[in-house]
Amino acid sequence: MMSILSRPEFHNEEKAYEYVESRLWPHGATCPKCGERERVSKMGGKSTRIGVYKCYKCRKPFTVKVGTVFEGSNVKMHIWLQAVYLMCASKKGISSNQLHRTLGVTLKTAWFMSHRIREAMRNGSMAPMGGGGGIVEVDETYVGTTDKTRARRAKHKSLKKNIGKKFRVFGGASHKNIVLTLVDRNGDARSFHVDKATKANILPILRANLAAEARVITDESGVYKDLDAEYMHAFVNHGRREYGRGEITTNTVEGFYSIFKRGMKGVYQHCSEKHLHRYLAEYDFRYSNRAAKGANDVVRADIALMGVCGKRLKYDRSVV
Ligand SMILES: [Zn+2]
Repeated sequence: MMSILSRPEFHNEEKAYEYVESRLWPHGATCPKCGERERVSKMGGKSTRIGVYKCYKCRKPFTVKVGTVFEGSNVKMHIWLQAVYLMCASKKGISSNQLHRTLGVTLKTAWFMSHRIREAMRNGSMAPMGGGGGIVEVDETYVGTTDKTRARRAKHKSLKKNIGKKFRVFGGASHKNIVLTLVDRNGDARSFHVDKATKANILPILRANLAAEARVITDESGVYKDLDAEYMHAFVNHGRREYGRGEITTNTVEGFYSIFKRGMKGVYQHCSEKHLHRYLAEYDFRYSNRAAKGANDVVRADIALMGVCGKRLKYDRSVV
């Protein structure tokens, strides 16, 4: 069997453009400014860059990169496609360092590309979870260190009298970032970075994402108590070691966290708080488009590619 990465769109720039165009423009080249499809033609000639079209209605040239996460970057399209594929194919994620070595781009560029691809993976779907009485597992976990604690640690470390001492004072759960995740057993995963695990933070997220008829399973935390009145709600009592009987378990969301944590530990050690939501989007994406739902690596990469449109990131262009 031939390696997937030997396919032409991963090596040939023209084929790469054709591939992306066929995904993003199913009805043919479309002007991103005015939406024109009829009076549009591909620019030819030796001096023309690959993939340039001209709209004869608004008289502007454009490429398929306009309005996508690929816009404003000088990275070749076939390199982008390799990166998208690699990120979709690795279960626990792939570090910028690995992308840098594999793709032969600078570390800065690899970092920039992986964040843009994560942005493409962010689905933003608000379709209710647990429709038709499906089961949705909800849980929280703690990851990394908050920016505030990092700053305090750095300050603590810089004081001469503290040299060699551990910063025991800044340990514990309250110094970590809190992640809330909803997993529809038959569908998607959605994760949110919350400030504190309080009712005021958590309940609005649940109400916005759950279908009225969803069956919700949480742990015994009092934060979820109000759900009793609004949903079919069951909880697993971890404190009393009453691990799930029958279908009352939170094993699915715990399994999700175990992959997420192994990935974050091994691959993304230095994830800063402000980017956490993008890493979460990446893990949600791979979970929501998992093999059990019939998606393979190629399908996943295609789905990610569909998400490249209409998402703009404000990044310093000097890194590209
Ligand atoms: Zn136009």
